[in-house]
Amino acid sequence: MTSGATLKRRLTILGSTGSIGTNTLDVIRQLGGRSCFEIAAVTGNGNIELLAQQAMDVGAELAVTADERHYDSLKAALAGTGIEAAAGKSGLIEAAERDAGWVMAAIVGTAGLAPTLAAARRGADIALANKECLVSAGDLFVNAVTAGGGKLIPVDSEHSAIFQSLEDDQRHAVERIVLTASGGPFRTWSREQMAGVTADIARAHPNWSMGLKISIGSASMFNKALEMIEARHLFGVQPDQIEVIVHPQSIVHSMVGYTDGSVLAQLGCPDMRTAIGYALTYPLRTKLDVERLDFAKLSRLDFEAPDEVRFPALRLARTAMQRGGVQGAVMNAAEEIAFHAFVTGRIGFLEMADIAETVMESMADRAPALTMEDVFAADGEARARAEETISVNEKAA
Ligand code: NAD
Ligand code: MG
Repeated sequence: MTSGATLKRRLTILGSTGSIGTNTLDVIRQLGGRSCFEIAAVTGNGNIELLAQQAMDVGAELAVTADERHYDSLKAALAGTGIEAAAGKSGLIEAAERDAGWVMAAIVGTAGLAPTLAAARRGADIALANKECLVSAGDLFVNAVTAGGGKLIPVDSEHSAIFQSLEDDQRHAVERIVLTASGGPFRTWSREQMAGVTADIARAHPNWSMGLKISIGSASMFNKALEMIEARHLFGVQPDQIEVIVHPQSIVHSMVGYTDGSVLAQLGCPDMRTAIGYALTYPLRTKLDVERLDFAKLSRLDFEAPDEVRFPALRLARTAMQRGGVQGAVMNAAEEIAFHAFVTGRIGFLEMADIAETVMESMADRAPALTMEDVFAADGEARARAEETISVNEKAA
């Protein structure tokens, strides 16, 4: 490793072919590749060529496609390499259960929950990019990590910033968590303007280069809604201790306010590799080839209050946190279905929040989840209700 420290970590990357996954592999390469990291498993979905190439590049033991239909082509692509191939949900669990001390959880959506949980239960340290795990399963997920004996290190840039700004022995003195939000491409747009946008327009984020779902979620601010709930469970704060502030330059990645009036922040250029590197080498810091902040060239840092009327997702996150129980799972599942309906042209941009709210209202009285099965049941019911709402709206149109 370039910092001079010796670090040999055995790592599995769940979701290696995505935006976080490929950035993770770049960080691993920068930190010394095989001399510092041994890769137990990598997983992807439809991009078999990239998955097989990654597995060969890093010398993984196992490569898994989540889609069973691609098993034969993955096996063919890996023929003669000695790398094992597997597929489907059971293949993902097999990857998560390999004896790697560290797991990068970078599958998008609720599909990431079961494998990340499997890794947590066996005691792996989890570098957590997949925010949906925490939004859906909340404290049950955190408790699984704690019971397994592993650490949970956030990769989401805001949560990494908060994690880095938290003084371990002063947690009792935390007054508030301030999540920054870029405001996305529609920060200054009216609802009328947003009503007709396509997925191609909505996915063009001004500062960050990311996967499709999170890019659309940044435009609708559903991503920030998920991050509010993520922060609640990661840092054990109350809903009214979580603030969101729009900061269009994405330089201040988030902040922690203390009872003495101090505010600690973490700053940097918008590049996920910093947060990924921190999570993979924690508690060490290492040397990364990412752009440095040039303060003399930073003309200004702007902050403005978020508009919960134009971006109702933020209000929905507060509702979900106040209601507690399975409302996080319900909001997340309904939003995932609404996201797919938006990108396939079935519903408009603004309808995503309407559908999430309708489903949340219809399931407001559900009992809190005592087990993961309760979480999966609420998730399944919310998906079915969201689908039904979309179909009913389509027939009415
Ligand atoms: P992405 O769409 O680029 O990649 C997702 C990965 O998940 C890919 O490897 C894909 O093959 C895999 N995948 C997709 N569907 C799957 C399924 N059904 N089963 C198993 N695997 C599946 O997504 P991303 O932008 O890298 O985001 C990954 C996670 O990290 C998300 O939860 C996102 O919210 C979070 N995150 C991303 C960023 C970012 O900069 N991209 C920042 C913060 C947090
Ligand atoms: Mg984020």
